[in-house]
Amino acid sequence: MAKEKIAVVIIGGGLAGLMAAAAAVRQGARVTVVTSGPGTVAMGGGGVSFRELDAEQADLQAAVELFTDMMAAAGCRYQGEITASRLIPNALGGFRQVSLAPAAVWAAGVEDHQEVCIAGWRGWSGFNAQLTAELLNQTAANSGLRVTYRAAVLEPADWINGEFNALSIALQLNDAEQRKKLAALLRPLLKGSQLLLLPFLLGTTTGDQELEEFAAAVGCPVGEMAHMAPAASGLRIYGRLQKYLQRCGVEFRTAYPARLLHFRRNCCQAVVLDTPGRPCVVKADRFIVATGTINSHRLILESLSGRQEVAETVAVNECQQLLDRESRPVAGNLYAAGSLVAGGQGYNGNAFALLSGYKAGRAAAKGDEL
Ligand SMILES: Cc1cc2nc3c(=O)[nH]c(=O)nc-3n(C[C@H](O)[C@H](O)[C@H](O)COP(=O)(O)OP(=O)(O)OC[C@H]3O[C@@H](n4cnc5c(N)ncnc54)[C@H](O)[C@@H]3O)c2cc1C
Repeated sequence: MAKEKIAVVIIGGGLAGLMAAAAAVRQGARVTVVTSGPGTVAMGGGGVSFRELDAEQADLQAAVELFTDMMAAAGCRYQGEITASRLIPNALGGFRQVSLAPAAVWAAGVEDHQEVCIAGWRGWSGFNAQLTAELLNQTAANSGLRVTYRAAVLEPADWINGEFNALSIALQLNDAEQRKKLAALLRPLLKGSQLLLLPFLLGTTTGDQELEEFAAAVGCPVGEMAHMAPAASGLRIYGRLQKYLQRCGVEFRTAYPARLLHFRRNCCQAVVLDTPGRPCVVKADRFIVATGTINSHRLILESLSGRQEVAETVAVNECQQLLDRESRPVAGNLYAAGSLVAGGQGYNGNAFALLSGYKAGRAAAKGDEL
């Protein structure tokens, strides 16, 4: 008879939770992700910086390999490496060091002696190509970077229906015909530029193939840069990653937050979801809490000895087991990952989510304990 798979439930479907799901599935576990919504990675560009992490630490290479393999298979290829770094511009005229990024974001990176055309639309209050080009030229000159930015401004197109913002444009650019129309408008504006820069708007479901076809139709590499959240790039990454994990067998229970983890003795038994009417109870062998800090819903740990709320930030041991105030594991089978864990916020948020998610997913699937 086939051996029953270990059941792992992950609470929180941000980057840390999805990475934990990937790692646990790879270890042969049966995985369910319970999440109240997408994580903050869906609001940004998806860039990863390892600047404040020890690049040599155990598991980092393996975590990054799993992540980049998974993103390539999901049709959203990442470029870069742990020890690399590239300056990526943003719409506010700044540059940010990034080690890994989706191909379209990576393409936006600074190259010596490059002439870059930044395209925008007249009358779009959320993005002013002229201002961005001026600010980037100033910052580049102050930082000794030999790159020149110039703006090309399009008239608002009749195919942009509804509100004139990045998300509505991105949603319409999910359609291949609209991308073709935009490419035809942009091509004559290049005038010898080696790179075309756009804010994050090239579709929310588009993949590598569609973006490569778009660049070919424009006639030069196309890069995307950060402006205001939500970002099409993050939505694209998130959607594709979730679909890929579903294809790998991960079950998603979305929309309702978990409100309670139920314990018996030293063991977490089940998670209770805040569903309308009768609460939904999901049992498993092991549990990972990856509820983040920005959209986190209250989560209670309930045992015979009482109730206690999961703190805003928590500590973990080397096995990623969630620790109590006395630094003892709360339960043998309860792990934590992501920005909820102390030290996991800030500039390296995505890098920390990848690494801690990977470690927690593996540990939970294998049953590692200290
Ligand atoms: C606008 C923006 C841009 C950013 N840009 C960058 C960047 O460029 N580079 C970088 O490194 N970092 C960036 N960050 C930070 C980075 O996104 C986060 O640090 C990292 O992705 C955190 O991942 P996480 O999975 O720990 O948490 P989150 O992404 O917050 O995910 C937590 C998940 O848990 C779910 N959840 C919460 N409570 C419950 C509950 N009780 N039950 C069920 N589900 C629950 C939430 O819905 C969410 O899905 C950015 C953040 C923001 C807001």
